[in-house]
Amino acid sequence: MTVSGKNALVTGGTRGIGRAVVEALSDAGANVAFTFRSSADEAAALASEVEGKGVKALAIQGDAADFEAAGKTIDQVVSEWGSIDILVNNAGITKDGLLLRLKEEDWDAVIGTNLKSVFNYCKSAYRQMMKQRSGKIINMASIVGVSGNAGQTNYAASKAGIIGFSKSLAKELGSRGINVNVVAPGYVETDMTGALSDEAREAMLGSVVLGRPATPQDVANAVLFLASDAAGYITGHVLHVDGGLAM
Ligand code: NAD
Repeated sequence: MTVSGKNALVTGGTRGIGRAVVEALSDAGANVAFTFRSSADEAAALASEVEGKGVKALAIQGDAADFEAAGKTIDQVVSEWGSIDILVNNAGITKDGLLLRLKEEDWDAVIGTNLKSVFNYCKSAYRQMMKQRSGKIINMASIVGVSGNAGQTNYAASKAGIIGFSKSLAKELGSRGINVNVVAPGYVETDMTGALSDEAREAMLGSVVLGRPATPQDVANAVLFLASDAAGYITGHVLHVDGGLAM
């Protein structure tokens, strides 16, 4: 599963799953650029950690929901490194609540950060990938986008949207040597799930066939596989990394 010498970009790379993806790709020999929203110190520390492995790193500040910022980020990676081979759209948020209480701004924020961001970076990267006639795009959804979850209409809609978007883009770009796939994690222990009540956590874990939550590394391993040449004949796929939670 080599990505040695490839140039990768990961959105929302400073913590949780994004950070594990940055680490997995750089461990496997890729140069890794990553975006962050506000944590400049963590971003600088992660960039030095990546460079310590003998590959290149770029930490780029930007709001993933901002179309113009996404374009500038892609331009920076291509102008500094000459190509973009792997794009991992990872940035995401939750703003949960039953529809009865969900505010319009909760809907807009989640759709903007989770779904529009995927459009932003794919739209900005695909021309360069078409020129290269190669590229691997991996979009981070959730099993909630497949099975739904009470209290997460906005989040589930954003993640189901990512799946539909990715399958369509896979059909548009397959003949150009570009693979587009989706990773759909189940319950992963990160800051995002840290906010859940013990009750909600126990209820979710009770349905995980493998009997434990995922680590960010479990998810990063799947991303690394899809980013590598070993997954060259896989496109438009939704890879569940959920310990059997949804099947
Ligand atoms: P996290 O909250 O630990 O990390 C999210 C990352 O996204 C952070 O680095 C954050 O700064 C970044 N981010 C958020 N909004 C951003 C914005 N507007 N612009 C740029 N960066 C932004 O969460 P996580 O659990 O690591 O989640 C990563 C991805 O995995 C998300 O897309 C999430 O929906 C998905 N996911 C997580 C789980 C889980 O159980 N944790 C399950 C399924 C899917």
